[in-house]
Amino acid sequence: MNDMNQSANLAGHNVEGAFDVARIRQDFPILGRQIHGKPLVYFDSGASAQKPRAVIDAMTAVLENEYTNVHRGAHYLSQTLTDRYEGVRGTIARFLNAPSEEQIIITRNTTEAINLVAATYGRRFLNKGDGVLISDMEHHANIVPWQLLRDEIGIELKIAPIDDRGVLDLDAYAALLDGNTKLVAMTHCSNVLGTHVPAKEIIGLAHERGIPVLLDGSQSVVHSRIDVQDLDVDFFVFTGHKLYGPTAIGVLYGKAELLAKMPPYQGGGDMIASVTYEKTTYEEPPYRFEAGTPPIVEAIGLGAAIDYVTAIGMDKIMAHEKALLAYATEQLAALGDIRLFGTAPEKAAILSFVQEGIHPFDTAATLDRAGVAVRVGQHCAEPLMARLGVDGTVRASLAMYNTTAEIDVMIEALERARTLFG
Ligand SMILES: *Cc1c(COP(=O)(O)O)cnc(C)c1O
Repeated sequence: MNDMNQSANLAGHNVEGAFDVARIRQDFPILGRQIHGKPLVYFDSGASAQKPRAVIDAMTAVLENEYTNVHRGAHYLSQTLTDRYEGVRGTIARFLNAPSEEQIIITRNTTEAINLVAATYGRRFLNKGDGVLISDMEHHANIVPWQLLRDEIGIELKIAPIDDRGVLDLDAYAALLDGNTKLVAMTHCSNVLGTHVPAKEIIGLAHERGIPVLLDGSQSVVHSRIDVQDLDVDFFVFTGHKLYGPTAIGVLYGKAELLAKMPPYQGGGDMIASVTYEKTTYEEPPYRFEAGTPPIVEAIGLGAAIDYVTAIGMDKIMAHEKALLAYATEQLAALGDIRLFGTAPEKAAILSFVQEGIHPFDTAATLDRAGVAVRVGQHCAEPLMARLGVDGTVRASLAMYNTTAEIDVMIEALERARTLFG
């Protein structure tokens, strides 16, 4: 058994800067826990990732020593925390290679970022009969906001198909760009199938026809290196809690010329330039889109998470996850009774599957008894489940802190499920 801990040791300990999974695991306090008397095997990072001590400590330090509101007081605490909070905008901008931090809007999560675009750009620039093109492997967060807009102003929702491996059909996609399509909103990486979509091609094809593109980067930001300028993407959104950061913070990146002409999202404090009862004027982006007291502590936490993954190196994280994916795929196939959904050549370490003849909930319950946390069900992607022809799947989503030894624990538990339920 080629244990990843062992191979990391062999490859790593004497080589400066190599990826050392054992050391990384020590940064995540929860990974020391036992579940049902077994060591926790956390394979549900696609739903929400665990937090390294750097994130926990950064947030605790703010609460204990630096806490106040931002953008308001002239006092010392307010000025220093405002600087730190605004500094995170710069950290996020550098992480995405955004041209400027004014193009980084802090939201509550991906869901709010997409709703923001639908409610502002969508309401202002889309008209009855205009098409919004999504794919057949979207999270509900990139379906329902467009349906709300459809119900409100009569846009048309168009669906780009995928093949049986979970690969986007680029010819069909290109054909759907013609006619009434006025916006593409697509997942950059599927949370169910792991598929990485060829974003540069998708964006290039859309731009040839003058159509802007929003990418849902909730998963891609965790499993790949993002460069919004190289992608030339118009809107890019992600959520902090899947990137080892806290909940209740997300990001919308937008091209400056688009953000400049978008109306406000919510109204309130912080987003205004001046207010009288007769007339209120609004701040420039990003503040125009950030009404009310922002997620201050969460922003500091997200900044710490980005610093953490950056210090390790996205390339090393990607290489480690790629090795885990190859190992898990091979081991699952060797079981002989696994139907794997999502076999795109370019995919992240997300494995959705069912054991033939066993209900996914029975599989997941058996895994849980072995300490293995997976997600089971529809993964907020009901239309995709319909496309795959299943009610639900088991999903093991891997992260930088996982090991091949943990995959072996899952495989053993799957063998046990076969004897229990097969
Ligand atoms: C998790 C996820 C979302 C939603 O993220 P929230 O934090 O719940 O807003 C959207 N799209 C994809 C692809 C996801 O994985």
